[in-house]
Amino acid sequence: MVNVGVLGATGMVGQRFIQLLDSHPDFNLTSLTASSRSAGKRYEDATTWYLDDSMPESVKDIVVTDTNVDEVSYDVDILFSSLPTETAAIVEPKFAKNYIVASNASAMRMEKDVPLVIPEVNHEFLDLIEIQQKNRGWDGFIVTNPNCSTIALTLTLKPIYDNFNIKKVYVSTMQAVSGAGYSGVSSMAIIDNLIPYIGSEEEKMESETLQLLGSIENGKISNANFRISASCHRVAVIDGHTEAVFVELEDNANIGDIKTKMSNFKSLPQELDLYSAPKNPIIIKEEDDRPQPRLDRNSSNGMGVTVGRLRKDIISNNSFKYVLVGHNTIRGAAGASILNAELINKTIL
Ligand code: NAP
Repeated sequence: MVNVGVLGATGMVGQRFIQLLDSHPDFNLTSLTASSRSAGKRYEDATTWYLDDSMPESVKDIVVTDTNVDEVSYDVDILFSSLPTETAAIVEPKFAKNYIVASNASAMRMEKDVPLVIPEVNHEFLDLIEIQQKNRGWDGFIVTNPNCSTIALTLTLKPIYDNFNIKKVYVSTMQAVSGAGYSGVSSMAIIDNLIPYIGSEEEKMESETLQLLGSIENGKISNANFRISASCHRVAVIDGHTEAVFVELEDNANIGDIKTKMSNFKSLPQELDLYSAPKNPIIIKEEDDRPQPRLDRNSSNGMGVTVGRLRKDIISNNSFKYVLVGHNTIRGAAGASILNAELINKTIL
């Protein structure tokens, strides 16, 4: 068993980490941190628990420590980070001197020597770890997972990118409120409403997707070569991001072929039989009114992305479109970090 900790354990993503790590076969959760507001309290007293399942007994009595304290040392190998970006930018590099940091935060994602990884899409980017440790003189390292909307989009684009020539992608998101953190969007702002702006989200989707589908040679990443434009919106759904995706290929392709490539898509996590890996990363729905966040977000324990309404687009002969749903705090956050750590545990540790 590998001892692990969670940084930012009291928040929306932190709670998902705790739920997913409870009875994990490889990881033993021993340390929890949060802000100075929560430090010194039992986890149960420090946390407003929002998940449907009750808080695991095993974490209730763990005393939360202050993430920002320099001298704390933990009896762990891996620290999962669900810290706000500003805090992550300061503390993650400090922790990486001694620990493996598997981070959800965007602070380090676009650093040239920090792998931004979806195990099914670009596991080979873990080669950057050696360069990172050399560059920075760290015994540990940082590995990051992408933004929640990017993960779901990129997983569905991967089999298309590998088998057809993508020319352009447009994506319009309808994102759940849990993506903004526990106190991110007030009920007065979102009930009976939609907010057509999520700070930096469109830029993240546009840059991260091209990097993830790119290639790596001698430690240098070359981005994928197609155009992408995102429009991001917050809707009154608790969990589960929905995305309408419009793809233009260089050449005409048959919808049946695209569907087959998507539904047959598997990669290294499935080959290695990693504990959190879904059997099929992409689940295709044939019903006209699917996918829906309430019905599809928990597919494959929240680690599958559900695709429906895959159809030709009249805009050009080479165009098609579809709708996807992915769980933003599981596949899009905590589950993604845990899958990264499972891959590292199996292939590097
Ligand atoms: P959240 O609900 O606001 O939780 C933030 C956590 O960080 C809490 O544990 C909080 O502790 C702690 N924290 C806040 N300020 C701190 C400080 N100054 N020093 C140390 N700890 C501090 O946020 P979240 O939604 O879980 O998001 C966490 C990270 O994951 C963010 O970087 C976010 O962008 C990223 N992310 C989120 C999602 C999603 O769907 N929610 C998806 C992908 C990535 P206290 O309780 O003590 O305040």
